[in-house]
Amino acid sequence: MPSQPVTAAIRGRLLSFTRAPAGPGDLDCLTYHEDGLLLVGADGRIAAVGSWEELRGQVPEGVTVDDHGGRLVLPGFIDTHIHFPQTQVIGSYGTQLLDWLEKYTFIEEQKYADPAHAAANAAFFLDELLRNGTTTAVVYGSVHPQSVDALFAEAEARGAGLIAGKVMMDRHAPAALTDTAESGYRDSKALIERWHGQGRQRYAVTPRFAITSTAAQLEAAGALLREHPGVHMQTHLSENTDEIAEVRRLFPAARDYTDVYDRFGLLGPTSLFGHCIHLSEAEMARLSESGSVAVFCPTSNLFIGSGLFDLDALSAGRRPVRTALATDVGGGTSYSMLRTAAEAYKVLQLRRRNLPALAALHWMTRGNAEALGMAGEIGSLEPGRWADLVVLDSHATPAMNHRMETVDGDLEEELFIQVTLGDDRSVAATYLRGRSSHLRQ
Ligand SMILES: [Zn+2]
Repeated sequence: MPSQPVTAAIRGRLLSFTRAPAGPGDLDCLTYHEDGLLLVGADGRIAAVGSWEELRGQVPEGVTVDDHGGRLVLPGFIDTHIHFPQTQVIGSYGTQLLDWLEKYTFIEEQKYADPAHAAANAAFFLDELLRNGTTTAVVYGSVHPQSVDALFAEAEARGAGLIAGKVMMDRHAPAALTDTAESGYRDSKALIERWHGQGRQRYAVTPRFAITSTAAQLEAAGALLREHPGVHMQTHLSENTDEIAEVRRLFPAARDYTDVYDRFGLLGPTSLFGHCIHLSEAEMARLSESGSVAVFCPTSNLFIGSGLFDLDALSAGRRPVRTALATDVGGGTSYSMLRTAAEAYKVLQLRRRNLPALAALHWMTRGNAEALGMAGEIGSLEPGRWADLVVLDSHATPAMNHRMETVDGDLEEELFIQVTLGDDRSVAATYLRGRSSHLRQ
């Protein structure tokens, strides 16, 4: 019997990964209950997972079973790189990275100095994540600490766990968007003290990228990591060839772009590097050796025209780099991790390799949880994990429904249809800590 009193019960086709799949057809990598029941304890964590027949007797009187019938119930999706102040930059026309920052993003992010604007957009941001089945995200705020306060407050009120940080940026941006090495350090430290470990919230030290931080600021970011073990670090690395040339010019003493971060102590197992598209062998070796994570943001890489993530090179046997999958809204064009996986599939096709459905769904759940060092908390349907769930409807649209007519009980084929045709419309419901936090109309 569960140790906590059971306060919620969710019935459906329960699917969760126990490890990464070796390839297509490797169904041993998951646990699957065709008619399953998940029990949630009063603490918001999963109390038990099993078949309906096995567990139905443990539903206490007075607890209504949320019956999702033939729909799939998975661990909530995890987005490992997204920008909170770019919800109104998404879908901006006609630029590549450096011009895109100048023309759109550095204008938009100035609005987040206003706490009321930040609070209103935090509500929209959380709504949109949950509508897309994303229950944990790693988030860039604006340079203003109040943007991160607004975001964490909204997440905590809803029971969602975020990893977020205030952008550190002390040069090459409008004056209204820059901090200094000292104020960036001081404001980040205050946010860590206020939010890291507060409820479900965690902090990520967030230097935007090498172009917008001086050596003194990168040094301060390294100090924050040393002084606060367990916080994450997030930044951008090797996204665009013009960016790389500019980093070379700004840091002539560094061996390469990765070395700019390395020399300030920013590599390591809690460090997330967005993009990692144009890395040299030496850079990949250093990321591997340090346990750092390369974050693949396919809709962004295609939309801004940055390049094709080289998963084969990064996964090479002798020095594999840990990887994660992410939307990168607003350079990315969708909040949906399903749409993101569909674009990842296409990028890898152009690299002459495939992305099996099992690998895609593992990546956005347990795989991303492992990349964050949080697999003991989120990413799988196991007792003790947070009851953060997404319910997927494989008949959500006419096109999906029509295609499903040809699927004769083949689970892997159904999952591939979710990955290629699914989006927010196929998310029937989302749960945080066992409580319904989104129900599709
Ligand atoms: Zn980004």
